[in-house]
Amino acid sequence: MWRRSPPRQRANTGGTWRATGGVRNHAVVARHAIGLDIGGTKVAGAVVAEDGTVVAELTEPTPESSDSATMTALLLRMVETLRSKKSEVTSIGVGAAGTVEWPSGRILWAPNNAYRRWNIRAELESATGLPAVVDNDANVAGLAEALLGDTLYREMVLITVGTGIGSGIVLGGHIYRGPHGFGAELGHIVVDPNGPRCGCGKRGCLEALASGTALTRTGREAAAADPDGLIARLARERGVAVTGQIVTEAAQQGDPRAVELFQTLARWLGVGIASVTTIFELDAVVIGGGVVDTGDLLLTPAREAAAEFAYAPQVRPLPPVLPSTFGSDAGKIGAALLALRHTDHGKVVA
Ligand SMILES: [Zn+2]
Repeated sequence: MWRRSPPRQRANTGGTWRATGGVRNHAVVARHAIGLDIGGTKVAGAVVAEDGTVVAELTEPTPESSDSATMTALLLRMVETLRSKKSEVTSIGVGAAGTVEWPSGRILWAPNNAYRRWNIRAELESATGLPAVVDNDANVAGLAEALLGDTLYREMVLITVGTGIGSGIVLGGHIYRGPHGFGAELGHIVVDPNGPRCGCGKRGCLEALASGTALTRTGREAAAADPDGLIARLARERGVAVTGQIVTEAAQQGDPRAVELFQTLARWLGVGIASVTTIFELDAVVIGGGVVDTGDLLLTPAREAAAEFAYAPQVRPLPPVLPSTFGSDAGKIGAALLALRHTDHGKVVA
């Protein structure tokens, strides 16, 4: 009952641009938008129809120098290529890592990119003549998961567990942003005031305890304490420092110490999930990001902890905690979906 079946239609991911066949016939001509998902390591782009069908897609590495001028030039090249595959696109949506002002579409700051106070919406609109919307990457991913997954969720939280922890809160079928677009940073709710220092400067944020970065930290401590253990050996064999990925591999091979680190991480994630489900009554909590690729290794202990710390579970059942439907495609699909929702006849309707 926990698993969600594969999405209705998925495009292949990765590599350079490719067109996807089998586009359905629509009685009414579907509108299409370009969705762009800007991450710390790659920029994913796609032409997406209203029902989430990916018509064409393209992925580029995030340039070493990710300042706004370099990034704008890259996005414009990607838009041009995608538009050449589907000329009828009506708008552009962008999901970007960082703090994004809504609806002005200014990215104020991002932890893993060099751009600051980047007026990306205005630059895209003036260069392409298309209306554009810009939002936080986890927000748009949450929108895709809520509206285009196998089940329609009006009340849902997406928590992405990767290098950091991102979140998108969908309430009443709409992204929750707050007055300026700065809402919903669940990765930085404090779950342990005496916990490790977070990248944001505080102590004991959920991100400091339940992200891939946390797994890297605890994995290095474990390797230092036990140089003959599998975590240390795997890193040595590869000639790399211990990372969350190495710990994940060790856990998948059944190494008890690595499994224990995973369970600790998942328990903290469950504490965060319990807190979120105490604030909101939700149809589902969806877990995305790279770490969820481990499946039940993460999800089983996370569900157990979420149930342990749930408020009044006898009358207030915990919503299902599910892996994401769209995985790493959620950002670009959600960005395009957001553009189609918020544009009409060449104008942004925020
Ligand atoms: Zn933090």
